[in-house]
Amino acid sequence: MKLLKFANHQLEFMTSRLMKTIELRFIIWLLTLLVLVCLTSPLARAAETPKYLDSAQPLEVRVEDLLSRLTLDEKISIIHADSKFTTAAIPRLGIPRRWLSDGPHGVREDIGPDTWEPAGRTDDFATAMPCGICLAATWNPELGFSEGEVIGQEARARGKDIMLGPGVNILRTPLCGRNFEYLGEDPLLAGTMASGFIRGEQSQDVSSCVKHFAVNNQEFERGSINVELDERALREIYLPAFKAAVEQGGVWSVMGAYNQLRGQHCCENEYLLTKILKDEWGFKGLVVSDWAGVHDTHATALNGLDLEMGTEKPYNDFYLAQPYLDGLKSGEFPLAGLDEKVRRNLRVMIATHVLDSDRKPGSLNTVVHQAVSRRVAEEGIVLLKNENHLLPLDATKLKTIAVIGENATRLQSHSGDSSAIKAFYEITPLTGIVKRAGGQVNVIFSEGYRKDGDAELAKRAVAAAMSADVVIYLGGLNHELGFDCEGADRKDMNLPYGQDELIPQIVAANPRTVVVLEGTMVEMDSWIKKVPALLQAWYPGMEGGNALAEVLFGDVNPSGKLPATFPKKLSDSPAHAFGVSGYPGTNGTVTYHEGLLVGYRWFDTKKIEPLFPFGFGLSYTTFQYSKLNIVSGQKLRESLATVTFELANTGTRSGAEVAQIYVQELDPPVLQPAKELKGFKKVFLQPGEKQTVTIPLDAAAFAHYDPEQKAWVADSGNYNIFVGSSSRDLRLSEKITLPQNAMLK
Ligand code: BGC
Repeated sequence: MKLLKFANHQLEFMTSRLMKTIELRFIIWLLTLLVLVCLTSPLARAAETPKYLDSAQPLEVRVEDLLSRLTLDEKISIIHADSKFTTAAIPRLGIPRRWLSDGPHGVREDIGPDTWEPAGRTDDFATAMPCGICLAATWNPELGFSEGEVIGQEARARGKDIMLGPGVNILRTPLCGRNFEYLGEDPLLAGTMASGFIRGEQSQDVSSCVKHFAVNNQEFERGSINVELDERALREIYLPAFKAAVEQGGVWSVMGAYNQLRGQHCCENEYLLTKILKDEWGFKGLVVSDWAGVHDTHATALNGLDLEMGTEKPYNDFYLAQPYLDGLKSGEFPLAGLDEKVRRNLRVMIATHVLDSDRKPGSLNTVVHQAVSRRVAEEGIVLLKNENHLLPLDATKLKTIAVIGENATRLQSHSGDSSAIKAFYEITPLTGIVKRAGGQVNVIFSEGYRKDGDAELAKRAVAAAMSADVVIYLGGLNHELGFDCEGADRKDMNLPYGQDELIPQIVAANPRTVVVLEGTMVEMDSWIKKVPALLQAWYPGMEGGNALAEVLFGDVNPSGKLPATFPKKLSDSPAHAFGVSGYPGTNGTVTYHEGLLVGYRWFDTKKIEPLFPFGFGLSYTTFQYSKLNIVSGQKLRESLATVTFELANTGTRSGAEVAQIYVQELDPPVLQPAKELKGFKKVFLQPGEKQTVTIPLDAAAFAHYDPEQKAWVADSGNYNIFVGSSSRDLRLSEKITLPQNAMLK
């Protein structure tokens, strides 16, 4: 009985303990649940994560939250450099060091930290894309997007936040040393290509930085030259590509230019930075100085600059560092001005996901990157002459090819200054030709010319030419200072190193000579008639040799078109028609006497025959334009006229044509160029294929800037609409009438 009692007691005791344990567990479980609920509730999250770090918050909320947490010193640290290409981190708030990097053709090798010398790293290679003018020559905005996307991905893989490109300064004189970086002479083409590029680059969580704002059209005295030009030229020619970068590209950063506009340095220029860019265009991002482009604390503080880089002083002595801080403390500068600068910097940082954990990581030199580089080169190379269908070459019918010329073996991507790339590799023209045809054909090489070369080189090249079935001559310019290179202009438009004498000798030795020129435009008048085939290859990037070989042997049908007029001689160019005050300037000022008659606008209006016109480029196939139909409406801001026509590939190869729309105002009340590009479309067609092409023209296509009214005005009256294969090869036209004047913003 006792035993039974004891057992019963034990059972009761155990049951109660079990109950207690269960209770305890339940309580613990309940508590855990409560804590979890509290922690994950939005309220709790808000208390824990500051708004600026919460990617679910709207951009402006994040910006203002972060701004409110910064001390005065921290704010100052955000608006100037702490090394050649960085701004300081603020670890307390989780703000990392911000990295800026050149540039327009890929991610530049790392520089500095405190000098212009390379950092000496081994992990700073990049894919070298074709240069800007080659991209423009594709007339393919989708490729602009792709090129930007590649550079954006590589920027992220290399840890960069702001990429210093694209460069969109208009080609005013053929002599400008940076023409190769820019996008040609036409504002519509440059703006369209730049916007595509920017959208692609910024899709990768980095900011593009369109440059150099503005009228930075020569390298001669670039740091000081004062530009004088009329308001229409400024508005209609030199600003639209920047405006497109802001409005269509959504660019987050703009770089001020070195030069002055109307007596004020562009990086400190109130009219450009505050009035036009920020007030009129509503730009919300940041304005960064060109490196060492600011000169004065007052103007830098007050006129619209938001980030100072590259000043040749200790970082703390930068105009926007201690001197600005002193002015803020003394009340000389308003604190609201500082906040506005910081706000713009933070906005760019947050918009490009610098503070977010899911920021895109990027990638380097993938097969896709290589393919894009090649594609841009394939579409950017321009066929300028092709008598008797010398091109494309048929490797099966050739025994020996003589490749002649120093550019056949010269690596180009790694020079030119800030746009240079430490390329993973570069296929030279000779390598590309050997890879493509070397298995079937005997390829011989002769250098032909060289800086400080001798007659012997030319003699050997002539002998090589005589021994071959066909010659591929690779010449043109290079990136040495004084040719296509930042920091100086060219002295003339001549081919260097005796090439003007060499080319006729080569053609005399072998009439089947294809001339391929790298670089920007040169005078060719002395030999062009003797040469049966000519290709303009620009600087086609690290896949350039492959792309060139594909074009030479017909694997790719050339479809590039000139983004700038090639004049017969320098003096035909508008910048050179008014004496030295028009270029390079006198007493520190250059005057744009030609006004808005830049490039083909000048050649067409003044009826000057160019060597090769704007928009020109041949194909291995032929295209036919027909059935033009223009429907014109009245609705401003939308399409004013819709241009429709049929384009057919009437040849035997697939190919692409860039159809161009030019508008000519008849009896204009103010000066108007003979015609202006107002639309274009690159169309890919199989042999025999036809396509109906539609290009809308909005009111802006008919408008000019009226400085009196400070507005864009489309005059009532008659206009010719031309559809052309180039600016001088107009295939279709129709007259339309605008019944009434219209004023645009
Ligand atoms: C150039 C800019 C470049 C900057 C940084 C300047 O000299 O004009 O285009 O982005 O240097 O390298």
